[in-house]
Amino acid sequence: MTELTGGPSLPQERRIVTAIPGPKSLELQARRTATVAAGVGSTLPVFTARAGGGVIEDIDGNSLIDFGSGIAVTSVGSSAEAVVRRASAQLADFTHTCFMVTPYEGYVEVCEQLAELTPGDHAKKSALFNSGAEAVENAVKIARAYTKRQAVVVFDHGYHGRTNLTMALTAKNMPYKQGFGPFAPEVYRVPVAYGYRWPTGPENCGAEASAQAIDQITKQIGAENVAAIIIEPVLGEGGFIEPAKGFLPAIAQFAKDNGIVFVADEIQSGFCRTGQWFACEDEGIVPDLITTAKGIAGGLPLAAVTGRAEIMDAPHAGGLGGTYGGNPVACAAALGSIETMREMDLNAKAKRIEEVMKGRLAEMQAKLDNGAIIGDIRGRGAMIAIELVEPGTKTPNAAAAGALAKACHAEGLLVLTCGTYGNVLRFLPPLVIGEDLLNEGLDIIEAAFARL
Ligand SMILES: *Cc1c(COP(=O)(O)O)cnc(C)c1O
Repeated sequence: MTELTGGPSLPQERRIVTAIPGPKSLELQARRTATVAAGVGSTLPVFTARAGGGVIEDIDGNSLIDFGSGIAVTSVGSSAEAVVRRASAQLADFTHTCFMVTPYEGYVEVCEQLAELTPGDHAKKSALFNSGAEAVENAVKIARAYTKRQAVVVFDHGYHGRTNLTMALTAKNMPYKQGFGPFAPEVYRVPVAYGYRWPTGPENCGAEASAQAIDQITKQIGAENVAAIIIEPVLGEGGFIEPAKGFLPAIAQFAKDNGIVFVADEIQSGFCRTGQWFACEDEGIVPDLITTAKGIAGGLPLAAVTGRAEIMDAPHAGGLGGTYGGNPVACAAALGSIETMREMDLNAKAKRIEEVMKGRLAEMQAKLDNGAIIGDIRGRGAMIAIELVEPGTKTPNAAAAGALAKACHAEGLLVLTCGTYGNVLRFLPPLVIGEDLLNEGLDIIEAAFARL
């Protein structure tokens, strides 16, 4: 895993030459604070100069190891050769016409790729948008138009975006919803199979949680009123929760039996992130609709809804769209990103990252006295997390997650936190990261634990 994908001039190394953040970043941070709305946060205020492969170089000359990928976006790196080449060529040809005014081939090609790569061999169609939230909103519009029903079912710990409808779909109040209501109606939340925290244990979790969820849907909403059930096959912001085995198939079957559109939100888990093109493949799920964004276009804004042709065609002509949806430069980037995923076999790379990470994290848990604060190690592919708890309990330990993240940042390793309780440290390296950098990042995590 030594291919350079950040351009040959970007060394794949960690290099710390100032405090983190350094003086130039601090200066820019002051300008930023004066002019950027306070509601827009940053995990780590180091200002980026260049990025690619497994590193982010800042304006002070520091080079950080990237375990964040801009929140699971730059799976092919932040300057992948094929993405830069194709997007640059498209930029020179034309930047925009609006697909709804005069169309172009790149949009069609992306939809062809989506039809080929997503699960199931039924006839499929797609519509392209700019952001994940927009894709989820459109999946709801399409499901409602198809079923002529209104209710939408989502799950505990689910995350689907920050627009009004997707705030309603999202479970966690702070920071996503606090003060921003009222929220869209006809949204209902049911339990998810969170094995680590299921009262009767992980073995029973899939069957019990699906039975509870289905019981709530039938008793509280009425299956015949439900347009869509939307679930992340691996829950992202909620804490990298893999629903216990059996849960997703049971929910998908229930949807099928009741004429409900089953929507897999693969915005974070899709495009090789979990070691498969889509995480729902793990249990052989074939969703009716699938939403994608993040990893799809190597960092350019693009999102899609893909699904059964008869469902996708339910809205009337002109009912779907948007000025920028499926921008030609973003489509070119997506084609470059997909090309890179195929050529470098990034599913295999993601599986290797899982093997290395889970192995090292399990060693840390066993070896360190304070390994007891690692309650759970979970996730798939390059979507791995540790849930931190008070030793000997399952009480969430958000302070430890915050302290570990801070310690990693100071040493030049970018990591992110997540989880309903804020106590999950998550690792989302670019799939093209070199194994030496991956291990160096894990060394930093190990040292941070030792100092905690
Ligand atoms: C990030 C995310 C979204 C929202 O995507 P945006 O591009 O930020 O609007 C929706 N669903 C999931 C699962 C996500 O991870």
